[in-house]
Amino acid sequence: MFFYQTMNYYRRHQKNNRLFIYYVFLGAIFALFLWLFMKIKFSLSWMVYWQEWSYFIVFETLLYSYVTMILRENELKLRLLEFANHDALTKAQNFAAYTSEIKHLFDTYRDNNLNLSMMMFDIDHFKEVNDTYGHLAGDKILKHTVDVVQTIINENDPKIKLYRTGGEEFNVLFPDYDLNAAKVIVNQIFSAINHLGIDINGKKIYISISVGLSAISNDDVLPNDFYNRVDNRLYHSKRNGRMQITAE
Ligand code: GH3
Ligand code: MG
Ligand code: MG
Repeated sequence: MFFYQTMNYYRRHQKNNRLFIYYVFLGAIFALFLWLFMKIKFSLSWMVYWQEWSYFIVFETLLYSYVTMILRENELKLRLLEFANHDALTKAQNFAAYTSEIKHLFDTYRDNNLNLSMMMFDIDHFKEVNDTYGHLAGDKILKHTVDVVQTIINENDPKIKLYRTGGEEFNVLFPDYDLNAAKVIVNQIFSAINHLGIDINGKKIYISISVGLSAISNDDVLPNDFYNRVDNRLYHSKRNGRMQITAE
């Protein structure tokens, strides 16, 4: 127990690269007492005592390497999962994450007749922004856009999820929100992005977005039926002059 507690203390307070030395050192001291007790109890010779002590150190080293290897593998798996589901530029969840989430949400929410809304937005004339101010400026605008939308989501309800589903296209899923409830937050996002002045080389750049919004319907057979309706509404906003929300 003492050995375990001490190791836990070191694990929490020491840097990782020195942990192995502490571990072996403490284990060696622990083994000295353990095998002294065995030596007395079973009348072992000093040679057997030191032999058993060295086996203990070898075993302890192997165990340490094995556990470290498993922990590193797990850490790597977690990082790969994070990498596979997130967009490197904006850190928002990506299209793969969206696809897997909508599959799960669509089945659950449609089968149980629950509310589920989806917003899709696309930055207006983004190509022009890139052409005028450069690709790096475009990247900065994308990052700012995600930060602003994510902040609004966090202030409202962390259950709402934002995904970067295309270059300058984003989807937001609103589980348990009907159209009117989702509209309240969509309006906040719309207004915040349209008033967002992003500093590019000392100059404030303003962007706007076009939005499509819809709620899940009983007629939707596949997640793509739902997606296409929202996409059509976004397209309607674009065709009608951009910088607007189409929800009907
Ligand atoms: P619309 O109002 O119709 O949406 O016009 P648009 O110019 O925004 O649309 P279009 O689809 O023609 O252009 C999208 C642009 O987004 C083109 C592409 O270069 C840019 N883009 C996509 N991904 C990135 C990115 O990661 N960084 C930057 N800087 N630009 C990107
Ligand atoms: Mg666009
Ligand atoms: Mg686009």
